[in-house]
Amino acid sequence: MNKVKCLIIGSGPAGYTAAIYAGRANLAPVLIEGPQLGGQLTTTTEVENFPGYPDGVDPFTMMDDMRRQAERFGTTFVSGIVTKVDFSVSPKKVWVEDTDLYEADAVIIATGASAKYLGIESERTYKGRGVSACATCDGFFYRKKTVAVVGGGDTACEEANYLAGLCEKVYMIVRKPFLRASEIMQQRVLNNPKIEVLFEHNTLQLTGDGKVQGADLIYRKGEPDEAMKHIDIDGFFLAIGHHPNTELFKDYIARDAEGYIITEGNSTQCYKSQMSNDKCQILPGIFAAGDCADPHYRQAIVAAGSGAKAAIEADKYIKSL
Ligand code: NDP
Repeated sequence: MNKVKCLIIGSGPAGYTAAIYAGRANLAPVLIEGPQLGGQLTTTTEVENFPGYPDGVDPFTMMDDMRRQAERFGTTFVSGIVTKVDFSVSPKKVWVEDTDLYEADAVIIATGASAKYLGIESERTYKGRGVSACATCDGFFYRKKTVAVVGGGDTACEEANYLAGLCEKVYMIVRKPFLRASEIMQQRVLNNPKIEVLFEHNTLQLTGDGKVQGADLIYRKGEPDEAMKHIDIDGFFLAIGHHPNTELFKDYIARDAEGYIITEGNSTQCYKSQMSNDKCQILPGIFAAGDCADPHYRQAIVAAGSGAKAAIEADKYIKSL
């Protein structure tokens, strides 16, 4: 058993920033890295909107900078996945890989969010054989080939632009008649001659012999001009949003209908999952930061800011014990 003051779960901008602040507050934080070192940001190509990097920065460099900064102030990093928690007792119990038990006065949850899939069967059939949710990770395999990106948000536009730099042609499959992405990202997509946006199309199934070779789409389903369309593609990239990684905590803390952790007002303090007398009750010592508690902004800079808040609040809580 390991006894710690402040345990941080997650290694994205929220987790690392919480570690920097907790380290500087002499809490000797322990950070459990989780399945994706550096978090979701490492699946993007370039970060252009994090202050302090006027020329943009490669996300791996940025996350490594944050990690080294956390290390400098005494953070211990544990490579592994949290498999079980017990927040009904104090100190809180957290198990890593089912075997290593950590007891912590305060826990900061910074587990982020994961990519969503459409839920069609052929997506599972071809996973790793043409289906991907990370253009930066897998785009290289599709050099000079034709791919499709599903989604019309900032992520989809970013991925389509990135893939257009490698591939011969990129289709964007967008279910609405417009893109939801920010104006600057829309313009980059619409002005890129390698990208063809298929508005009002949905994917019915992927086809191919052992790997993705095509996709069957439907245009304006249920409308008088409904039509089928087949595209020949080698890769199919999902960019339709994310769901929060909070399932593990559902018995102890309150979450909204989509699974995002609900925090108290402007703080990072979590509520108990069970209401008492129709009232939400604070669960002392548990704080949430970053995308796992943020259905609105989902930005690295916002996640980092909430990580700082969580560590300041955890420090105050620990000192009150
Ligand atoms: P969004 O939720 O913004 O967009 C998801 C897109 O996927 C929408 O176009 C949505 O369509 C579509 N979609 C969702 N479900 C389906 C489905 N089942 N079938 C087909 N299409 C579907 O997610 P993002 O990941 O793009 O962005 C999340 C947040 O992160 C946003 O706030 C964004 O601004 C931010 N972000 C910022 C970046 C930056 O500033 N550099 C980079 C990347 C993300 P519909 O519009 O019809 O709902």
